[in-house]
Amino acid sequence: MFANGLQYLAIPGPSVMPERVLRAMHRAAPNIYTGELHEITRSLIPDLKAVAKTDHNVAIYIANGHGVWEAALSNVVAPDDTVLVLATGRFCEGWGGMAEGLGAKVETINFGNSNAVDPKQVEDYLAADTEGRIKAILTVLVDTSTGVLNDIKAVRAAMDRAGHGALLMCDCIASLGCDVYHMDDWGVDVTVAASQKGLMTPPGVGFVWFNDKADAVREAMPRVSSYWDWRPRVAADEYWKFFDGTAPTHHIYGLREALDMIGEEGLEAVWARHAGLAKAIWAAVDVWASDGPMAFNVANPAERSLAVTSLRLDEGQGDALRAWCEEKMGVTLGIGLGRTPASAYFRLGHMGHVNGHMVMGFLGTIDAGLKALGIPHGHGALEAASAVLADLAGADAGGAQSNEPVQQCC
Ligand SMILES: *Cc1c(COP(=O)(O)O)cnc(C)c1O
Repeated sequence: MFANGLQYLAIPGPSVMPERVLRAMHRAAPNIYTGELHEITRSLIPDLKAVAKTDHNVAIYIANGHGVWEAALSNVVAPDDTVLVLATGRFCEGWGGMAEGLGAKVETINFGNSNAVDPKQVEDYLAADTEGRIKAILTVLVDTSTGVLNDIKAVRAAMDRAGHGALLMCDCIASLGCDVYHMDDWGVDVTVAASQKGLMTPPGVGFVWFNDKADAVREAMPRVSSYWDWRPRVAADEYWKFFDGTAPTHHIYGLREALDMIGEEGLEAVWARHAGLAKAIWAAVDVWASDGPMAFNVANPAERSLAVTSLRLDEGQGDALRAWCEEKMGVTLGIGLGRTPASAYFRLGHMGHVNGHMVMGFLGTIDAGLKALGIPHGHGALEAASAVLADLAGADAGGAQSNEPVQQCC
């Protein structure tokens, strides 16, 4: 009934694509042999390193997140090597499953679906590995299925306390450019991410950042398939070696624009925007949850992602709410991926090109949905969210930042 108008995909990836990114991609097929495309591709490298906060290497692949999972593993994990998965939801388990498919032996510490990695357990586990069986640790900054945010710096500290030399590998697919991340300062050896979440570009390109320690492990590998090998991609004299085949032409234009937008706002400001919007969302949820079945999947705010929030209702209600919001209001919410009962859960994506009015819009939509469906809930959620935003935004509009110039007329 009220769905016609701008459709809003408020799911945890793919995220909303800015008009600027779409316009940058709207062009005829470019020359791939020479010229602008090569220059733009080269220009992406320093900006991609900056967004992961690393001075080391980045390889670009035509691949989604699953593709760069395999890319990263293919360079450092050989058959019969052992990897340790720190599971806080479905995604890290999925990465481990892929390692298993590549012939690795996979050990898992499972922290459940609602809590972050406990560094002490990691330390004890590694301290017991006296013969250095574990070659790499697979972890996620944010598990998108649960909304859990892990303290990656604390995982590195636990490894150091145990005196363990494994590679630390981190999946930042959900939240690079949303949740704070410092690859080098936190001691991460390999980072993977993809284009379609915080980076605001369509799915289809992925990235592997790696340091010299990881590259030394690559050096000792018995073999690496030419497509996944990260070396030619970072030592590319010829443009197409970035891609080992045809370049992802339009993604390059889109990504250039998206990285420009992040650069213009400033990465720290982008993180702060995500933090403020998340605070407003959580304030609304606190009110809804004060009366009725709604609950955060992750109770501890310090263990919640700034990019995705997982919520639960009673069985069937998550599905009903999602259907209502989409059919009646034009807002698509995320499914209860990998959860039981899946129909109780839903997720809010607030990653990338998201601002205050978009968040107030989906919160208002959910509030209306709870009322329409007769799902008991605390009242005043929108008041709570708007109070957070008003407080954080302040009264001084003179210094307001806008992505696009405002047309003054009449
Ligand atoms: C989205 C996501 C993936 C999977 O990415 P695809 O592009 O869908 O293959 C993996 N890990 C995390 C943490 C994600 O958020």
